[in-house]
Amino acid sequence: MRLVLLGPPGAGKGTQAKLLAERFGLAHLSSGDILRAERAAATELGEKAQGYMDAGQLVPDDLIVSMMAQHMARAERERDGYVLDGFPRTHEQARALDRQLSEQGSRLDAVLELKVDDDVAVRRLAGRRGKESRTDDAPEVVRQRLRTYHEQTAPISAYYAEQGLLKEVDGGGEIEGIHNRLAEIGQAFVGSRG
Ligand code: AMP
Repeated sequence: MRLVLLGPPGAGKGTQAKLLAERFGLAHLSSGDILRAERAAATELGEKAQGYMDAGQLVPDDLIVSMMAQHMARAERERDGYVLDGFPRTHEQARALDRQLSEQGSRLDAVLELKVDDDVAVRRLAGRRGKESRTDDAPEVVRQRLRTYHEQTAPISAYYAEQGLLKEVDGGGEIEGIHNRLAEIGQAFVGSRG
């Protein structure tokens, strides 16, 4: 099963992607987590990404696309698929992902979009600040991340809607309720690996 989880920063993508991955035996591939690990290991990629991340801006598409391709290839070999969290984030990334999948004769099963209002997202991120020690959870960077989301990432929902892949899910309320709504959709694709 190959899923994408979309939604603004603070929508709960990380939490929900992890729960979906556990439930369906998928790899949880978070582009943000992978980038933070690259930074912690002081790799060349991590160093290139650093300035963009600290400013709440997107890391260039070519770096992200090749980084994610490696992780997706491993998930194809070792797991029953993956849930992508934080990728794709631009039209170019979405098209690159489609090209890559069609070259291997496969496709996404579904794109799940968590719908939450900006004020809910900001409140959730403020609650997280300090607990996860993310420098980009500072209020001025959060505002920039939301702007980046609305300008560059939100438009890709329409791209997936045209392909009939988009499922919108209410991202409000408690973690378990949101998980159940997402899992119900995922259940339809259990066993599809082709
Ligand atoms: P996240 O943990 O998903 O909020 O990502 C943290 C930061 O990593 C973002 O603000 C971006 O700077 C960078 N990042 C994560 N995923 C991507 C992506 N798909 N494309 C470009 N930049 C990304």
